[in-house]
Amino acid sequence: MPNPDVPVKPIESLLPAEALRNAPPELPEVSEVDVVRHFTRLSSLNYHPDRAMYPLGSCTMKHNPRLNEDVAALPGFARVHPLQPDSTCQGAIRLLYELSAYLAEIAGMDAVTLQPAAGAHGELTGLMMMRAYHERQGRPRRKVIIPDSAHGTNPASVTLVGYEAVQIQTNERGLVDTKRLAAVMDDEVAAFMLTNPNTLGLFESDIREIARIVHDAGALLYMDGANFNAILGITRPGDMGFDVVHFNLHKTFSTPHGGGGPGAGPVGVRGALVDFLPIPVACKDGDRYAFDYDRPHSIGRVRSFYCSFGMMVRAYAYIRTHGPDGLRQVSENAILNANYLLRRLEHHYPRTLTVHDVQSGHPREVPLPAEIPCQHEFVASGTRFKDNGVRTLDIAKRLLDFGFYAPTIYFPLIVPEAIMIEPTETESKESLDSFIDAMLTIAREIETEPEKVKDAPHTTPVSRLDETTAARNPDVRYRKAF
Ligand SMILES: *Cc1c(COP(=O)(O)O)cnc(C)c1O
Repeated sequence: MPNPDVPVKPIESLLPAEALRNAPPELPEVSEVDVVRHFTRLSSLNYHPDRAMYPLGSCTMKHNPRLNEDVAALPGFARVHPLQPDSTCQGAIRLLYELSAYLAEIAGMDAVTLQPAAGAHGELTGLMMMRAYHERQGRPRRKVIIPDSAHGTNPASVTLVGYEAVQIQTNERGLVDTKRLAAVMDDEVAAFMLTNPNTLGLFESDIREIARIVHDAGALLYMDGANFNAILGITRPGDMGFDVVHFNLHKTFSTPHGGGGPGAGPVGVRGALVDFLPIPVACKDGDRYAFDYDRPHSIGRVRSFYCSFGMMVRAYAYIRTHGPDGLRQVSENAILNANYLLRRLEHHYPRTLTVHDVQSGHPREVPLPAEIPCQHEFVASGTRFKDNGVRTLDIAKRLLDFGFYAPTIYFPLIVPEAIMIEPTETESKESLDSFIDAMLTIAREIETEPEKVKDAPHTTPVSRLDETTAARNPDVRYRKAF
């Protein structure tokens, strides 16, 4: 409240003259109802999983149960303050302590930090712990091996931490080539970073052998856990031989995803790596819960305070409401849905990838063996439409006309004209079927009237943009509604 005894100077008198306007700004004159309608109309143009299927591969855009939002909004959770004394927020610390334990159990790890603010931040945190481990062993190392199918954040995190990223090629079955891996392993390698299932949506079935090769060289095995939606309750990174894994709570564990909102990338570790966890760690002492700062080998803090607490509440509620069997069913249904789409679409959208000849280094596009099932997602290729002058980008744009969000395109980089489709477990058979219908209709249109696909979208408020101009010279002025 302003003090009524202190005269308030007009704001103009506090600003330098050249900072003042000569004329009122040209703002639209609108009534409250017009403002409300404007933003309501805009919000209805927004696309999200509450509107229709969002088959964005790699990112797991799935339905998040409303119950978890209600739980996160309970005043005791929503109003807790990070500077509150521990004695006044025992329930909140208990939730963090128990969530760490659940995630550790789900991943087969010994301990979990909830601090990292995104998957990429989890990668950085995991790499820092692995570096601290090698340094404490008295054998600092220099390189981290990454498959050529990796998500871009993997090499970025490796570089940020001061290691050199060394790429190895994927084999014709879309998996890690264990011979190539063995050939690059030496005592300079700190770790091998792998996503499992990998970004082609394939399970790395040689994972035990991979772990052996990596550990025999004294290196560590890191799992990018972005694809956890395929393995919940079925298998665990720890059982596969991984030493470190990050989770993306905003993919697998019920935190709304996107819009630049907060993410959460907890990291689980095993064995000797536990000593290096960031401080503080939520702990239990008798029947009291507290934050432990007394960890001499910790890599320190990786963020202010402890975590994005609301997400931890959502993840906790998600895990508790599903239980072990329910979590397993999440992944089983995600895999079932993806394989249904794969089998219905593969004749028109085949799975292929680019491999390089060992001797000559020449790239070749090869089909993925049809008998290999996918996990929770699959990557098709649009190269067969090249003769019709249609690219994957056009197919993605045309899907918008059918009311679907576009899948991930042009990732992973080893699939030419990639279309990466992840339906998630929460889609009904009806919605999968209508997505299939749309994809099959587009395949037919490409044969008969390719212009329709190349000029798409036709029914959205904004038609095809010149993407370079849109990025370089965005038009952000107010205009009357579309
Ligand atoms: C999403 C994703 C990441 C990065 O996670 P963010 O939370 O977006 O930082 C890393 N790897 C893979 C395979 C991903 O899909």
